[in-house]
Amino acid sequence: MAEDRIYDLVIIGGGPGGYTAALYAARAGLKTMVLEKLSAGGQMALTEQVENYPGFEAGIDGFALGQKMQRQAERFGAGTAYAEVTSLDLNAWPRVVETSEGTFFARTVILATGANPRPLGLEGEEGLVGRGVAYCAACDGMAYRGKTVAVVGGGNSAAADALVLSRIAKKVILIHRRDTLRATKIYHGALAQAPNVEPRWNSVVTELLQDGRLTGIRVKDVHTGAEAVEPCDGLFISVGRQPATELVRGRLELDEQGYILAGETTQTSVPGVYAVGDVRTKPLRQVITAASDGAVAAHMAERFLAEREP
Ligand SMILES: Cc1cc2nc3c(=O)[nH]c(=O)nc-3n(C[C@H](O)[C@H](O)[C@H](O)COP(=O)(O)OP(=O)(O)OC[C@H]3O[C@@H](n4cnc5c(N)ncnc54)[C@H](O)[C@@H]3O)c2cc1C
Repeated sequence: MAEDRIYDLVIIGGGPGGYTAALYAARAGLKTMVLEKLSAGGQMALTEQVENYPGFEAGIDGFALGQKMQRQAERFGAGTAYAEVTSLDLNAWPRVVETSEGTFFARTVILATGANPRPLGLEGEEGLVGRGVAYCAACDGMAYRGKTVAVVGGGNSAAADALVLSRIAKKVILIHRRDTLRATKIYHGALAQAPNVEPRWNSVVTELLQDGRLTGIRVKDVHTGAEAVEPCDGLFISVGRQPATELVRGRLELDEQGYILAGETTQTSVPGVYAVGDVRTKPLRQVITAASDGAVAAHMAERFLAEREP
């Protein structure tokens, strides 16, 4: 075991959760390494303008914010290795982290691998992200002020997105494959009272229409098979998320949707292993909540090490 590959803390994922944990851990004197398979910033780096992270009154582009978070953590001694983690042994001591760039050893581990929005899987969808196709009303809704948007989905997040958008957009078409929402009752009344929300029940989106930007969608009635074109400027896809938990499936306790079970302390079912940001069970997945988790997890890791190795 190469001594220089043994860390007090290995953080998997270099998004806002991961780099905030790195900042706090490095400042607490822990030998800290962030393992990131792509680039600093995670999903945040895909966001053209982050308008709701405090301290940037004019907003900041997500990529730049990711670079700032990385540099801030590195200023205090945290390292970054661009490596994809391929497997984990959380029972060994120190924990064994296998990556595309060799093996790392960790006394504590923070999982900050995020969660990705589940796509609809329609032709052209990926290329239209940021040009009419969006996955987060709280993030991208303001770009559709006074415009016509559609929301697809029937759960709480689709209902919440439709409500947020009803206060911004001219018209919100809510498309759901069943004849009623799965969302909790509280949303039903609020949506019914929003005069600019038009539900399309028993319907699915079958095609994205575009001229380089989204111009409309083709919607099919699942009972009759009848199809109609709905012109719109934006489509918000809210059909669930996929937490990046392949590495820990069967090793850590997950909830029924696959998120790592961890509360406010970020502690998982294995001592000394923490989960932060979008990958853990939580009510709001945003940059600020990921950053908050990162700070807490680094603090918990520091306490764990102090108690185990005083
Ligand atoms: C289009 C879009 C716009 C958004 N806009 C906003 C906004 O305006 N405001 C806001 O607050 N939130 C916004 N969000 C949400 C926000 O980006 C996330 O809540 C936040 O980035 C979560 O941070 P995280 O650190 O938990 O994970 P992520 O940012 O998802 O980072 C996870 C990192 O882990 C890495 N990783 C995963 N698996 C491995 C592995 N096996 N090995 C190595 N590395 C791995 C990934 O490459 C990634 O860099 C937006 C999200 C999207 C998709």
